[in-house]
Amino acid sequence: ASPQPLLSVQALEGWYGESHVLHGMTFDVASGEVVSLLGRNGAGKTTTLRAIIGVLGKRRGSVTCAGVETIGMPARSIARLGVGYVPEERGIFAGLSVQENLTLPPKLRPGGMDLEQIYRLFPNLKERARSPGTKLSGGEQQMLAIARILRTGSKLILLDEPTEGLAPVIVERIAEVIQRLKADGYTIILVEQNLRFAQSIAGRFVVVEQGRVVDAISNESGCRLHQLHAYLGV
Ligand code: ATP
Repeated sequence: ASPQPLLSVQALEGWYGESHVLHGMTFDVASGEVVSLLGRNGAGKTTTLRAIIGVLGKRRGSVTCAGVETIGMPARSIARLGVGYVPEERGIFAGLSVQENLTLPPKLRPGGMDLEQIYRLFPNLKERARSPGTKLSGGEQQMLAIARILRTGSKLILLDEPTEGLAPVIVERIAEVIQRLKADGYTIILVEQNLRFAQSIAGRFVVVEQGRVVDAISNESGCRLHQLHAYLGV
């Protein structure tokens, strides 16, 4: 038998108020995998991440993390299981310095990276330690957002469009960071529109349409970019 997945999403339903958005999302993620959720705008990718971390108002079905059922748990308990979320809008404190952002809650928990480890992974954040968030480039903000989550000791990291609006050279830098995390045993679920980037780091694509999984594509045999593009309607 294959080992227990780190994350198992089964028949997940989700709503915004009366609006039924997730219709039986089902997929597993093994420990150490990098999986990219792929699909058109509005397919339900962000909503899936929000349902996993427990901030979607209404959800039903099953989401287990290391075998623990999280449906019905408050978001902070799910976070304590080691699930970290970096939202598309990044969620950093713009008025505070890099270092302050890294020492505020969510704070260092067992297994989390200390400042030294963070600065080794993100040398440019070290250089900018005293700069206010408002002075950071988009790429630096994204790195700071990821760094804040790494402080918490989460080993399952959900990234929502981490490369959005970033210059190609910074996108490459983010890819390197994710590869590093993968090598260190982190598990990553990624929502991404930049297919070239996703293809450079994901082991597998899960294709989402109208709130359900319609396909899964392994990236191991080098799937073709045009095949993935077809799923995005571009
Ligand atoms: P995108 O790339 O546009 O974020 P997505 O696949 O992540 O696409 P979701 O953001 O999960 O899609 O949206 C799924 C559906 O839920 C869409 O129809 C969207 O309009 C709807 N939706 C998203 N956020 C809300 C909200 N806060 N309230 C009501 N409906 C929402």
